[in-house]
Amino acid sequence: MPDNGAVSASTPTAPSDTDAPASAALLARARAVTPGGVNSPVRAFRSVGGTPRFMVRGAGPYLTDADGTEYVDLVGSWGPMILGHAHPAVLDAVYDAASRGTSFGTPSENEVALAEEIVARIGPVDQVRLVSSGTEATMSAIRLARGFTGRPLVVKFAGHYHGHVDSLLVAAGSGVATLALPDSAGVPAQMAAETLVLPFNDVEALEAVFAARGDQIACVITEAAAGNMGVVTPQPGFTEALRRVTAEHGALLVTDEVMTGFRCSRAGWWGYEGVDVTPDLMTFGKVMGGGFPAAAFGGRADVMALLAPDGPVYQAGTLSGNPVATAAGLTTLQHCDDAVYARLDEVSRTISAAASSALAAAGVPHRVQHASSMFSVFFREGEVRDYDDARDQDTAAFGRFFHAMLSAGVYLPPSAFECWFVSAAHDDAAVQRILDALPAAAAAAAG
Ligand SMILES: *Cc1c(COP(=O)(O)O)cnc(C)c1O
Repeated sequence: MPDNGAVSASTPTAPSDTDAPASAALLARARAVTPGGVNSPVRAFRSVGGTPRFMVRGAGPYLTDADGTEYVDLVGSWGPMILGHAHPAVLDAVYDAASRGTSFGTPSENEVALAEEIVARIGPVDQVRLVSSGTEATMSAIRLARGFTGRPLVVKFAGHYHGHVDSLLVAAGSGVATLALPDSAGVPAQMAAETLVLPFNDVEALEAVFAARGDQIACVITEAAAGNMGVVTPQPGFTEALRRVTAEHGALLVTDEVMTGFRCSRAGWWGYEGVDVTPDLMTFGKVMGGGFPAAAFGGRADVMALLAPDGPVYQAGTLSGNPVATAAGLTTLQHCDDAVYARLDEVSRTISAAASSALAAAGVPHRVQHASSMFSVFFREGEVRDYDDARDQDTAAFGRFFHAMLSAGVYLPPSAFECWFVSAAHDDAAVQRILDALPAAAAAAAG
């Protein structure tokens, strides 16, 4: 599943983690005061078992846990740390901003500069509004799409994660559009029913749902390239079909680039190798916050004009455009130049190719899929085009692989459904540590 381990009620038998006593002690303390001991479910290691590592330090491509064990990090805070941890220029910008006050609740220049940087990089974005999380960005984009069209329904794709917005926390069976069922307790069925869930990459299902209910659909929201069920790119022509069908029916196309934005290219998935479908609205987060809470939604000026205070669609935030977060984000983006993207590409190709050959040598069925430098390894054979394909994999084999890598000092995402994130700080030494760890982990995966 996407980053919502809450739906998994089962706790797999945990490998013993005698090598992480300090993390185990912190987890015990944490569990007394925080549900599951974590502030975001996937961090709890429920799908791989074992003790989640409590980190105390990050530097470049490395993380160090409470026991003093160092790991090469392939999570990168789930995407933001594109320049590596504690990048000196980002730290300088943060210290500088913080020394002048950490929140004003007024407009300030950093916000303008960050918005200008985003608008300059992303062709379809005339204007942006800054928020504090990707969840807020998608929630606000959907409210705006509903306000603009005056229609209630939202179409999303199974396996696409758009944050924990009530109406987007729904998945559904494959095949045709079904009445969506809530994927979380606490989401009213009526609210989930406003969301129609389709299989990704299925143009027929899209056309069918618009033929039946097109005049009620406010928008289609899609991950520009899916990264929250593992990496699944749109098939050739699929995004074009989204654009064509939404336009025919007067609905908006919202592409969620919270993960792909400023990572797949200096713009994002939009702007990557001939991807040039123009959405109406887009959402951003992760990289653009530089490790701080900053996110955004933006797009067509005539749609954005409906936002308060100019228009009737309300949206606000006490810490929106926070001066420290925007300083970190702006400095991060300013350092994301061609050399950074070239390095991400090189590191991602090297690691994914090595993972693939190690798994092949060990006889482990697998499939590597890329969206530019984002990639993931599915523990199954054959192309993964949608959520049903993604779910049809050997998650137990991934769990063994994950723990072998962890023991060898490589911190992978603790779920088979997550993307592996590299940074420009992954130098040859860090990459070599990963390559060295792969053969034994592949053997462990083979069982
Ligand atoms: C991470 C993510 C979100 C949610 O962002 P948060 O900052 O965690 O709320 C939304 N959409 C996509 C595609 C994401 O990857």
